[in-house]
Amino acid sequence: MKDILFLEPVLKEMIWGGSRLKSDFGYDIPSDHTGECWAVSAHANGDCTVKNGLFKGEKLSSLWKNHPELFGNVRGDVFPLLVKIIDAKNDLSIQVHPDDRYAAEHENGALGKTECWYILDCDPDGKIVIGHNAKDKTELKDMIDNQKWNDLIRVLPIKKGDFFQIEPGTVHAIKTGTLILETQQSSDITYRLYDYDRLSDGKPRELHINKCIDVITCPHEEVIADRNIIEFENATVEHLISCDYYTVSKLWVNGSQSFKQKEPFTILSVVEGEGNIDGTPIVKGDHFILPAGYGEYTMEGEVVVIKTV
Ligand code: ZN
Repeated sequence: MKDILFLEPVLKEMIWGGSRLKSDFGYDIPSDHTGECWAVSAHANGDCTVKNGLFKGEKLSSLWKNHPELFGNVRGDVFPLLVKIIDAKNDLSIQVHPDDRYAAEHENGALGKTECWYILDCDPDGKIVIGHNAKDKTELKDMIDNQKWNDLIRVLPIKKGDFFQIEPGTVHAIKTGTLILETQQSSDITYRLYDYDRLSDGKPRELHINKCIDVITCPHEEVIADRNIIEFENATVEHLISCDYYTVSKLWVNGSQSFKQKEPFTILSVVEGEGNIDGTPIVKGDHFILPAGYGEYTMEGEVVVIKTV
């Protein structure tokens, strides 16, 4: 049997971050304003290291380049996905991402960014920003020019377990008191629309208003996630989303349950509980990849796992 690739996450300090990546997930955080755990990433801004086995110490980017057989020889210059856990102690700036075409043209060939959010936890009155209320680009420009942020920005209530797909061109922001697991294209291109007039080191952070106006979809287009459930003997699997870049599902295992690997490689993130996979212990906060050809795998225990393929 091939080695499971367990990954060492990269932790990032952010002005809006907190300490829950340590208190809830056990990560070794650099400070009490740590905002992001890049859990499965080969991006140059945060490249994860393999923790075990034959490839111990290797970066995920180097495995992708030098051992394509681990990933089913999937084409592509870069590992295509990035899985993060985000701890928003405070509001994140309101932002939007370009699509692949716009990013290729305006950001030196970078990828655009489609992302999705699984709400791991939030405050009882938790909220999130998704979408806007402008009917067309003219109204969008006008509302931005006149700083009508409360009219423009669409705020929704959230609860633990909610799931959202964020297409490029969608205005979005995570708000205070929210823990999220984010699966996204491996991109770091963000255009900031509004930052609540906050100061960072005495200065406002840069906004990218013109690029925002270029890429924001008008009017807002809602994506309804097609959630459906398959029952196994000792597990429940809920399909959350399939798009051009990823398919994400949620696995609740209670007991011992085998699954078949049907995809080139499988990313698994343990978000609750503990147990084992084929005898190797797993616990909340672990992230790992089943390489190509791993075949059938058995998870045992009481765990909730987000699967990305
Ligand atoms: Zn985003």
